[in-house]
Amino acid sequence: MASCNECKSFFSLEDDDSMGDCVRRIVDPRQAYYQAKPVEADNDSSNCASFQKK
Ligand code: SF4
Repeated sequence: MASCNECKSFFSLEDDDSMGDCVRRIVDPRQAYYQAKPVEADNDSSNCASFQKK
């Protein structure tokens, strides 16, 4: 099972690597931006369409 900490978009917190931010670049027809949300490192990523192996 893959988890968020194996994903290119996962950036662990400096003081706690069991938690991190999922930071993804979103590109839509009018703009590109970054979206960040908190995730747990061992969160199951098998259902995530944005998963990319590091
Ligand atoms: S939520 Fe998806 S895109 Fe974000 S870190 Fe986890 S697997 Fe990667």
